[in-house]
Amino acid sequence: MFEHLEKYAGDPIFGLNEAFHRDVHPQKVNLTIGLYYDNAGCIPVLSSVRTAEQRRAQEPEPRTYLPMEGLAPYREAVQKLVFGAQHQALQAGRVATIQSVGGTGALKVGADFLHLAYPDSQIWISDPAWDNHHSIFQGAGVPTHSYAYYDPATKSLRFDQMLAELRELPPKSFVLLHPCCHNPTGVDLSPEQWLQLIPVLAEQELIPFLDMAYQGFGAGLDEDAFAVRAMADAGLVFLVANSFSKNLSLYGERCGGLSVVCATRDEADGVLGQLKAVVRRIYSSPPAHGGHITSAVLNDPQLYAAWVQEVAGMRERIAFVRKQTHEQLSAKLPSYDSSYFVKQTGMFTYTGLSSRQLLALRERHGVYIIDSGRISVPGLNTRNIAYFTDAMADVLS
Ligand code: PLP
Repeated sequence: MFEHLEKYAGDPIFGLNEAFHRDVHPQKVNLTIGLYYDNAGCIPVLSSVRTAEQRRAQEPEPRTYLPMEGLAPYREAVQKLVFGAQHQALQAGRVATIQSVGGTGALKVGADFLHLAYPDSQIWISDPAWDNHHSIFQGAGVPTHSYAYYDPATKSLRFDQMLAELRELPPKSFVLLHPCCHNPTGVDLSPEQWLQLIPVLAEQELIPFLDMAYQGFGAGLDEDAFAVRAMADAGLVFLVANSFSKNLSLYGERCGGLSVVCATRDEADGVLGQLKAVVRRIYSSPPAHGGHITSAVLNDPQLYAAWVQEVAGMRERIAFVRKQTHEQLSAKLPSYDSSYFVKQTGMFTYTGLSSRQLLALRERHGVYIIDSGRISVPGLNTRNIAYFTDAMADVLS
């Protein structure tokens, strides 16, 4: 009955990650998957999370269902983190927020919701993209297209072309944007560029969908939300998906949020109802354990303060590794411009390495990088940077 179905090719990133684990190279380096590793190469359990879990273990509660929209204190904490505690859109009750199944779940619920609201609309996604953006929206019945974003020649943003293309879109088109730490390129809009883009979105009546999977990993928790807050200040109607997978290191607990900024409180009430209806049809209610832990960390002033420090630690380590890599490459290969390591931000860097160079890195040195040349920077640490930059110098010279 199902023989006619195509075989699922699997996710190329997960496939390469598995190949890395099979490799017996003694100095192998894994720069494939988008996970934050600490300097010892481990995925951290944050102390704020550990304390929240210990407290919860001491007072076990029945494992009942959460509401379709998730825990109320979790949703409030998402709003404060994403928009800033005092934002007038929150005070006006114009934001409908649900707890979601990670950032991916927020994108899926948002995609279904947008398709329901505007069945004929289509979405434009950055080129290059996090591949799942195309899959999620196509899966929700929303056709996808690309807009110009990254210029391989300069390893930076094609801002003018991006603006020009967005100016041509039909009204009520959806536009997927990354407020910070663009995946896969690490190239972001500056605050000034966001302020130039916002009037274009407003004039064209476009509906932005912001995907913020790495809040806190770029310039800071507030700084990284600049675009979100500037759009809310400008009175735009838009969606924001946020994820706690990276900044709380809670990957498998599936914690995120979806917020829809509306024109009025009444509209937000109606939107919340529709989001609940979408959730009910897909998974009924979000996971409770991660929800309680996230809510405890974000709502307890001491745990929150500890968490802010832990996020700063992760962000600073990424910046340190970027700087070290750039300095070592400049010394080992003076003719090679490696400044992109420090100009790009967040978890990812787009190297522009060719397939031949990527294969040589893998076969000669056990250095694993995905086919697009995207590096997941936290795979580097003080023990392997020198080895990695030697390997880069070898394949680049
Ligand atoms: N959006 C982007 C751009 C991502 O890079 C990721 C994770 O890799 C997600 C969304 C999904 O986040 P989550 O793992 O919380 O589902």
